[in-house]
Amino acid sequence: MDSVNLSPRLAAVASFVPKGARLADIGSDHAYLPAHLLLKSHIDFAVVGEVAKGPLENARQELKRQRLLAATALRLADGLAAVTDDDQVDTVTIAGMGGILIRDILAAAKQRGQSFTTLILQPNTDEQVVREWLVQHGYQITHERIVQEDKHFYEIIVAKPGNQTLSAQDLVFGPFLRDEQSPAFKAKWQKEADRISLIFERLTAAGKADTPAYQQWQARFQDIQEALS
Ligand code: SAM
Repeated sequence: MDSVNLSPRLAAVASFVPKGARLADIGSDHAYLPAHLLLKSHIDFAVVGEVAKGPLENARQELKRQRLLAATALRLADGLAAVTDDDQVDTVTIAGMGGILIRDILAAAKQRGQSFTTLILQPNTDEQVVREWLVQHGYQITHERIVQEDKHFYEIIVAKPGNQTLSAQDLVFGPFLRDEQSPAFKAKWQKEADRISLIFERLTAAGKADTPAYQQWQARFQDIQEALS
């Protein structure tokens, strides 16, 4: 992967960035995502935020190689503290981090009084935590996509300011993903159902089939069956 040829995961994130957006890519590492969008003239400005010096240096090198330094503001900062009012950022991408970290970055931004027109989030884990935070803090989910890369499944969640009520099932499976029933969605949750079946076997073999833990797995298994039906 490089700035020209994004991975399917980052290409899916990029596909949701509105044309002409003023972008902040938080946790940018190599800056492939903003560099790709700048090279295509899809955007003309991006804040590239990184909490760690090494990845920020990776970003600087990539942007220099692509002659894009002038179109970017490289900032060493924790989360959305990288963004100032003067940047006039309207679109935020946060990809390739855990959902809890993404939630914490969004919560810290909210506490600082920052709000954005479009959030494009790609949690590697704990997608439910991200959805929960969004709907509890004045955002509504407008689009979702699930992408498979090798054995991994990645969910992309797009949110805009607004109100939304989501069921417990929507929070776990994603309101749009659940409706769409894409092959990647089915494969992700079938894989999880298969994993839980193995847990059932192990718990039963250990004489623990009548425990709260077993019942919790049973409830999750049933939810998955319903989401796939
Ligand atoms: N966004 C890129 C992608 O999706 O391919 C890079 C993902 S990389 C796995 C995660 C990056 O997030 C790391 O470079 C890490 O330093 C950065 N990061 C972690 N916590 C952060 C925070 N609180 N603020 C900014 N960057 C953070």
